[in-house]
Amino acid sequence: MAKCQYCGEHAGILRRSCKDCRRLEEQARAYGGQVGFSELLDRLEETGVRPEKIMRFLKANPDGRGSVRDRLTANMTNELLQIMGINERQTPDDVQRIRKITEKPPRSNQGNPD
Ligand SMILES: [Zn+2]
Repeated sequence: MAKCQYCGEHAGILRRSCKDCRRLEEQARAYGGQVGFSELLDRLEETGVRPEKIMRFLKANPDGRGSVRDRLTANMTNELLQIMGINERQTPDDVQRIRKITEKPPRSNQGNPD
């Protein structure tokens, strides 16, 4: 009997995951990278799957490429960085401007002989 790759429960013949986890998979694929993590959790809960099973699904690492949760979070982070424009390349001018702002000489009292 095949076991579910996510929760380890009975999955059925020729199935890699059980009915519950397949539904979670669908939701994760549909919403992953498009909504925040808490909203994604809401979507997963809407499937009616028990919360503890959702957590087992998220912690599962079926192919050794990182847990479902980590992969979803990585997707979100990438999306977020793009939205925030972090992927944009800075021009040398920008870099210089930033350096001038951050390199203001500190008015320190270091080396005060008295
Ligand atoms: Zn399962």
